[in-house]
Amino acid sequence: MLDLINHVVKISARRDRTEINSAMVDALTALFHPLRVTIYRCYTGRNKAVFFPCAGFGPNGPFLRNAYLPDRQHCHGIEQDALLQRCRQEASAVLERLDDGSHRIVFPIIRREEPSYMIDLVLRDEFSADQRVALMGLIEYFGNHIALLDYGEGDSLTGLSSRKTFDKHLFELLGQAASDELLGTSGPRRRRGGSCQASHWLAVCDIDHFKQVNDNFGHLIGDEVLIMVAQVMRQSFRFDDQLFRFGGEEFVAVLQPTESDCALATLERFRSNVAQQVFSRIGHVTISIGFSRLLPHDTPADAIDRADEALYFAKRQGRNRIDCYEELVASRQLTAREVARGEVELF
Ligand code: GH3
Ligand code: MG
Ligand code: MG
Repeated sequence: MLDLINHVVKISARRDRTEINSAMVDALTALFHPLRVTIYRCYTGRNKAVFFPCAGFGPNGPFLRNAYLPDRQHCHGIEQDALLQRCRQEASAVLERLDDGSHRIVFPIIRREEPSYMIDLVLRDEFSADQRVALMGLIEYFGNHIALLDYGEGDSLTGLSSRKTFDKHLFELLGQAASDELLGTSGPRRRRGGSCQASHWLAVCDIDHFKQVNDNFGHLIGDEVLIMVAQVMRQSFRFDDQLFRFGGEEFVAVLQPTESDCALATLERFRSNVAQQVFSRIGHVTISIGFSRLLPHDTPADAIDRADEALYFAKRQGRNRIDCYEELVASRQLTAREVARGEVELF
């Protein structure tokens, strides 16, 4: 009992998902001695669900991965694991007996009617009733703690990540990119057979003439447009791209490593999906997008400034279009004054 409370206190002291997962794995292993435990973060798109094992303990000892940055190498589709699939379908704990007599139990943490996490345990023995109650209580506590975190990190209108988590996400991502560069571990991200290195991209997406939507139809309809644009955004990007509502009618996407043509194709899909969407009462809205390559030694503000410059260019050119900062500079379409800002910072 005292042990359980001590572990709950340790988990409750943490505010970072990776650290919370680590404390949860510690608690589960110390209290229930499982043969194996895995905490999955679940990403559910329109057609598929992807699982990222972000913390756990197994035959090779413990492992811990950054819970904010799903690593594609370790992610897999739900169809590869029948018990996880059943857990998702039934939206409740599921159990199976394994050949060696051990039991595997998977518990879902449900958010917006889908599992946002799953906890997968292999246990040697049948549990006493007390142990079962303790295990379920601990998992329920974990779910409540995650719900608070979702609330704190998310934008309340759209459910996308909020601006206040942006700097943290970006610093982590840039830190990872810099260490990849240092360690030379960015190999798998290189295009096969080519020397062109893929990189992260940051895009600022802004609804065109949104003030008119509010002025003509009122703020409530304006808010509905924001919610729908966020939905279209979720469906247009990959599960591991990071999506934020950055302010009023401005959205930011941080794309996983890819070449510029793939980044442009993804953004084009988003732009055209929004343009084709019919918004009840108001018909159609459009968005403009500016994007820029993330550099390992960027600060979040540097990257935003460059994408913003490309966005302003897109607005000046008539809106409902996408512009890339690097291409505008290369083709000298950004004026010297605009480019000079970055240069001044070098001195
Ligand atoms: P542009 O094409 O140049 O981007 O024009 P715009 O009208 O979209 O740009 P502007 O920045 O002038 O106006 C943004 C408007 O967004 C102002 C405000 O009425 C609206 N807005 C900001 N936040 C919210 C919100 O949370 N809900 C609603 N309904 N409207 C918002
Ligand atoms: Mg706007
Ligand atoms: Mg704006």
